[in-house]
Amino acid sequence: MAPSFMIAKKDDPEYSVLELMGKEGIDLYGKDINLRKEAHDAFLAMKKAAYSDGIDLKIVSSYRNFNRQEIIWERKYIKYTEDNGMDPLDAIEKIIEYSTIPGTSRHHWGTDIDVIDGYRKTNGDVLVPEKFEAGGPFEDFKKWMDGNSEKFGFHIVYTNDPKRKGFKYEPWHYSYAPISIPMLTAYRRLNILQLLREENFYGSEHFTTGFIKNYVRNNILDINTALL
Ligand SMILES: [Zn+2]
Repeated sequence: MAPSFMIAKKDDPEYSVLELMGKEGIDLYGKDINLRKEAHDAFLAMKKAAYSDGIDLKIVSSYRNFNRQEIIWERKYIKYTEDNGMDPLDAIEKIIEYSTIPGTSRHHWGTDIDVIDGYRKTNGDVLVPEKFEAGGPFEDFKKWMDGNSEKFGFHIVYTNDPKRKGFKYEPWHYSYAPISIPMLTAYRRLNILQLLREENFYGSEHFTTGFIKNYVRNNILDINTALL
């Protein structure tokens, strides 16, 4: 007979709602790394291996809490609706090409990173797909990650599969699968529609049921299938 605690575990999720939404402080490790312990250790091992091939894996962004994502979201929303005069729904569609709705970012989990090659000097924004292509400053980085990152548990999330919907191709965004897969499983059990309805940030009043359902299907779940 299974011990009772094993049965109880089913109703007692490993990750809390607040944690999954970036609203609860979690233990983060490493200066300029800021990941959960296991992801941090795996990243350091990967960084060491990359060094020996002449690549400096440099994290541009890793853990981000709800408030940080809310600032990013609202800054873009105000820019698009007020400065550019866009319709709120068009502005939201534009934001979600690359940015997540607060409470729905994988960066809330302490498992995901935006990463580049710190050895390569480049002007302007670094998280631009063209910079990771042939002739771009991060071409070698991309090749190295393609050949090695999965050995350390890191998988690209938003692939360049033309059939994929949701967020655009992000050759810089990697996820530590051993933790992020169970976290996504826990996240999928949440009632995202209900949770987002309780929020009150710029633009959130325009979220319809249909919009959120599409967002969950396309932006949260239409990712690299290795991470599902
Ligand atoms: Zn990212």
